[in-house]
Amino acid sequence: MPFTDFALHPLLLKALEADGYTEPTPIQAAAIPPALAGRDLLGTAQTGTGKTAAFLLPTLNRLAEGKQPRPAGAPRILVLAPTRELAHQVLLAARKYGQFLQLTTGELVGGMPYREQLRMLSRPVDLVVATPGRLQDHMQRGRLHLAGVEVLILDEADRMLDMGFLEAVESIAAACGKDRQTLLFSATLDRRMAKLAERLLSNPVRVAAAETAEAAPRIEQRLCHADDLAHKRRLLHHFAQSPDVGKAVVFTATKRGADTLARELTAAGHSVGALHGDMTQDNRNRTLDQLRRSQIRLLVATDVAARGIDVRDITHVINFDLPRGPEDYVHRIGRTGRAGAEGIAISFVAHGERDLLARIQHFTKVAITAHQVVGLEPRRPIAANPGRTGAPPSGKNRGGAGKSWARPGRRTTSQQQGHGPRKQASAASR
Ligand code: AMP
Repeated sequence: MPFTDFALHPLLLKALEADGYTEPTPIQAAAIPPALAGRDLLGTAQTGTGKTAAFLLPTLNRLAEGKQPRPAGAPRILVLAPTRELAHQVLLAARKYGQFLQLTTGELVGGMPYREQLRMLSRPVDLVVATPGRLQDHMQRGRLHLAGVEVLILDEADRMLDMGFLEAVESIAAACGKDRQTLLFSATLDRRMAKLAERLLSNPVRVAAAETAEAAPRIEQRLCHADDLAHKRRLLHHFAQSPDVGKAVVFTATKRGADTLARELTAAGHSVGALHGDMTQDNRNRTLDQLRRSQIRLLVATDVAARGIDVRDITHVINFDLPRGPEDYVHRIGRTGRAGAEGIAISFVAHGERDLLARIQHFTKVAITAHQVVGLEPRRPIAANPGRTGAPPSGKNRGGAGKSWARPGRRTTSQQQGHGPRKQASAASR
């Protein structure tokens, strides 16, 4: 079904055409019609599924249909996002899809100067994207008026709750007025999310990108067992110089770890940037821009800073450290395989991370295939057992190498392949 089958305003269709989007993604096909009809939505979709357009297109349609004179600082549309990066991505997406609509848009996020935000609020504004903390700041200062919000969007609502924003989200929603439309999107749907949805949504339509918490199917997931930190470092240097690895995001557990690895990789001659919570927003934006423009090839990042990374041609995600929670794993690997591209996620797993791996496999319902790099094999592969992890006996991982549960340590040619999508082992990649 093409986009033209939806009752979208011609100027939105024109923007989609300009971006080369012809077919809606499944979440867009499910979400756009009820949202256009004014219904509340409870959406489960991870990043990479096209969820942003799923909530923005029907919302922008409302703006396309007619402008009304508005007081200053009183947006018609409010999008809440957990992090500055994600908020900025949503803002860019709104500007892209709304490029022919003459919209006024703005962002209210922490870590940025107030001056520009206050200037934005001193004029009429159609759409505001915000993180909850800074938004509340402006509300308390009396600069922002939410009673006229027609559509409230909560993006990555689960993450907002993880970050302790429950109360903030509820009080912001309460300020928005009762007859608004509310679109709530979350990567996961658990009891606390169901409770929040019950309080904020009115008779919502449920839409989902996938029925389970499975990671995006275009991402091939692999793991490499590592004996210790030094082994992980050697593996990282191996992948960093592999010609199969185009742009890669390397995830570490700590800011200091990110800085250290970025320095090491730079010293080894790679073009590298770091991205973490200690950096100013300007610095973070600059680094992401450099990655987009291919001025850097490797980005070493922590989870906090990584949410909004939407760079189309990231070929690999490397988990130098496993994330603490399986949801973070899904978000991390969603940095690759974007916009229909294929991607590879490689996780380095040391003995102490065995339980984390088990939780990830249980959550994603994917048995991640173990791979070995010739010359960098682990001394002692991690004993994993499908019964213990709860992972299915035959993984849904679409990895070319061994679709069945891979016994760690089993050395087959298929598990020693190169690092490019569906490539056979090449001398260069070893
Ligand atoms: P999201 O899940 O919203 O972060 O979107 C993931 C990526 O898919 C973004 O780079 C979007 O620009 C892109 N995208 C969204 N919708 C479509 C579509 N219908 N066709 C092709 N690409 C899309």
